Amino acid sequence: LEVIETRRVLVKNLSYIGEDNFDRVITNHQHIAYLKISEGCSKACAFCIIPKIKGSLISRSEKSIIEEFKLLLSNGVFEINLIAQDLLDYAKDRNENFAFLKLLKNILKIKNDFWLRLLYVYPDEITDEFIDLIASDKRICKYLDIPLQHISDRILKKMKRKTSQKKIFSLFEKLRNKIPDISIRTSLMVGFPSETNEDFNELLKFIEDYPIDHLAVFKYSNEKFAPSYNYPDQIEEKIKDERFEILTNRQFELVQKRNKKLIGKTLDVLIDSYNSESNLLAMGRSQGQGYNVDSNIIINNTKKIKAFGKTQKAKIVDTALYDLIATLD
Ligand code: SF4
Repeated sequence: LEVIETRRVLVKNLSYIGEDNFDRVITNHQHIAYLKISEGCSKACAFCIIPKIKGSLISRSEKSIIEEFKLLLSNGVFEINLIAQDLLDYAKDRNENFAFLKLLKNILKIKNDFWLRLLYVYPDEITDEFIDLIASDKRICKYLDIPLQHISDRILKKMKRKTSQKKIFSLFEKLRNKIPDISIRTSLMVGFPSETNEDFNELLKFIEDYPIDHLAVFKYSNEKFAPSYNYPDQIEEKIKDERFEILTNRQFELVQKRNKKLIGKTLDVLIDSYNSESNLLAMGRSQGQGYNVDSNIIINNTKKIKAFGKTQKAKIVDTALYDLIATLD
């Protein structure tokens, strides 16, 4: 608890989230960067200790974010991942509503070519205007990471998530209608206290009915400082393991089926690097694939690469587990 209290004090200082110090080392490829716009979280999901560890929401100024954005571009970064626990909560700690949309519009005034990836939006904060903005500019990756955690109303309520199954279904329909090529990533949790077979089956049905392009499945972990720590009806580890296996295996089958349908399609692919085992292959991604967390596009004719960290057209020719194999034009 002492550590948690100390960190709470630390996070009140804006320098902790890089308000006026952009002097950081980019540890992955030089063309990819992560730009944190806020830290902490003021929501209260029952399973989560982030608000206790990182404190309540604290947001950087728009000026500082835009300055860092421009600096990253001038240093050759092509893909900038804006990150926060919930981007759409940006500046609510200053009682500013819809500030993220304003920030996004101001970022889009920068004339350069780039990919902007939006990492983490809580489902109930997504508005029509936000969706339209994503659809309106080709530099915003047609990709959203929307952590859902569950789909059963009973479990969502116990998790203290401020959304419902009906709202999530309608959001997914709207996203797919307005942005047909959008990739959706989410995380789902199995084994939350009191989760029944019926609740779990709702998760299974959900991924069948509402395709998830990239899915992270987690087993509930009973964290000491989380509100759900003392919830009754904790689920046995064996059952969590079984549900984890069933959900991940089903997702794998669904992804393989969908990937086969991509064969023959030409995509803009950002070439990240050579394959770690052979320079005859290279690793790239479409806008629909986040770096290091999602599948990749494996390029099989590396002699055609013009530059790393840039996009080129590539035709999907095959699939390999979760990945796609492509040939550069
Ligand atoms: S799960 Fe996400 S939204 Fe919920 S409390 Fe934790 S950080 Fe906040």
